[in-house]
Amino acid sequence: MTVQLGAQPETLGQAEDIKLEMTNVIESFLEIHKIHANLIWPELSFFFGEALESELQSFIANLATQYHSDRCHLLDMFWDIQRSFQHVSKDALKHLAHQLKTSQIDLEDTLTFYHFFHTRPAGKFQIYLDSSVTAWHQGQEIVQKIFENELGTTLGEVSKEFDIGLFATPCIGMSDQGPACLIDFIPFTHLTPRRALFIARQLKQGIPPQKIWSKISNKIHRKDLLLDQYHEEAGLKHAMIKGPEEIINILKISGLRGRGGAGFPTWKKWDFCRKAQGDSRYVICNADEGEPGTFKDRLLLTTRAFMLFEGMAIAAHAVGAQHGIVYLRAEYQYLLPKLNLELTRFKQNHSLPIHIQLGAGAYVCGEETALLESLEGKRGEPRVRPPFPVERGYKGCPTIINNVETFCTVTHLLEHGPKKFLANGTSQSTGTRLFSVSGDVLKRGIFEWPFGITIGQILQEVKARAPLAVQIGGPSGTLINAKEKDRKICFEDLATGGAITIFSEERDILEIIQRHMEFFVGESCGCCSPCRAGNVMLLEFVQKLRSKKAKEHSLENVKAWAKIITHTSRCGLGQTSPNPILTGLKYFPEIFQNLINPDSADGVWNFDLPRATRAFEAISQKSEREG
Ligand code: SF4
Repeated sequence: MTVQLGAQPETLGQAEDIKLEMTNVIESFLEIHKIHANLIWPELSFFFGEALESELQSFIANLATQYHSDRCHLLDMFWDIQRSFQHVSKDALKHLAHQLKTSQIDLEDTLTFYHFFHTRPAGKFQIYLDSSVTAWHQGQEIVQKIFENELGTTLGEVSKEFDIGLFATPCIGMSDQGPACLIDFIPFTHLTPRRALFIARQLKQGIPPQKIWSKISNKIHRKDLLLDQYHEEAGLKHAMIKGPEEIINILKISGLRGRGGAGFPTWKKWDFCRKAQGDSRYVICNADEGEPGTFKDRLLLTTRAFMLFEGMAIAAHAVGAQHGIVYLRAEYQYLLPKLNLELTRFKQNHSLPIHIQLGAGAYVCGEETALLESLEGKRGEPRVRPPFPVERGYKGCPTIINNVETFCTVTHLLEHGPKKFLANGTSQSTGTRLFSVSGDVLKRGIFEWPFGITIGQILQEVKARAPLAVQIGGPSGTLINAKEKDRKICFEDLATGGAITIFSEERDILEIIQRHMEFFVGESCGCCSPCRAGNVMLLEFVQKLRSKKAKEHSLENVKAWAKIITHTSRCGLGQTSPNPILTGLKYFPEIFQNLINPDSADGVWNFDLPRATRAFEAISQKSEREG
């Protein structure tokens, strides 16, 4: 924007824009004339600072009133502030801390935990490029370069000329249609260089993303029980004429295991919660699918939201819960209007109060206790367990947390009974489930397959191109050799949260592993040393190996450290983060072995905690800058 002398801002947002513009103008003037800013800044601030300060103060006071000064709505408040001012400033934190009767440092600590919150102005439009492995393979690098060139900025920065922020984020749930990006949280998919150029030029002219957005499609290649057989209200009606024990028994007979990846029996979780002591109980839907390569909940949230709410109401009836919350990943906030419409429709006939809480970009919040912390308006750091959420969850009350697909499957089971479900799958992994298929295949998208499907069957059905490796369950899962055709997808063999990514022979396995390790380093919450520092060491090992600087004993060394990280980390992130290396070593030993250099002078690989911690901090700061 251009500053017009004497122009009066009409809104606080405009006033902030003018302040920013003035700041840029003044800073260039000072730079040209080599004047140190501190010499005159107090006077300039005084010139227009006080009016803004009092407007900001009243904005925050209104916000606190709107959310009843409830800390559990802290993320909502941050979002509202950021949407109005492009960032959450120190002044905003100061006023908010006053309203919430806490310290500024406490709020800052929480704010900076989440990738999508900014402490510096992030631009009038904000672009987040998907930096997942598959996006990279699909041409994200060229797309990034086009945005950088066209906007005259680099990743992690805001274009000074056009006031557009350009950032990266690990996975936006669009691996089936990459390269992709979010612009003001609206997804843009199938980005070709030409399309990226067009988008950048439109944004430069101030055309908002809503005007150039095209609809997102969900490609379903195979439907079965869950996607094919649903009649609105039928499952919930059946549930309401049954007692809690009867419902839980149906789940027990069905053998349903949570679809999030860990596979805990759903009936057991619900039974624990129902029997736990507590006056209030909560049902929470984990709609934070953040495992790179996963996007099947996107489909359910788009087309089966009513089915999800039914599942939550069935759960509430079974465990005696009075409240429901859907924790929605920030990357899916473009679904909010539709979800809210469906929720309103649901509430017309059902009394369970459900609300949707938006996350703010933190992979670790997919871990259920981290999710609870986030819901309570804190840093999403996993809790020490026990106690488990079924005993002491949200606000210290018994809580069940299941993911979107699990609740939808519950609705299916209550509508149709467990018989058909049991006819599918294996003895320990019953039924069908949804899979997100991406990578080097002709058919990317959603498949509903029974558990027990083999790698060979999958490769054939998705029309894989010269497959070399299959990533089962995202970076935290198993990177298996595509030759292992008889291996089965089920809890008895290869467990998964639903992501299947296929890599062809033209891909570099170690580059994939390195990207996975970078992802874990960037997403570690930093709470415990093995994960915080250990993952940096594992990453360094892969870098060393790729540059032919690792010696033979480094392989044994890395296995030993991976074991320590797996066994001593507090949560699933650290417990599974060495998997890319460990499974890579298991299924592609020759690739590792071929890169060993016995003559390397730099090959001794010892653990250096202070250095690893410094490296973690540097990487965390970098990912904070890049979004
Ligand atoms: Fe945080 Fe990693 Fe520890 Fe989990 S394992 S609590 S992500 S540091």
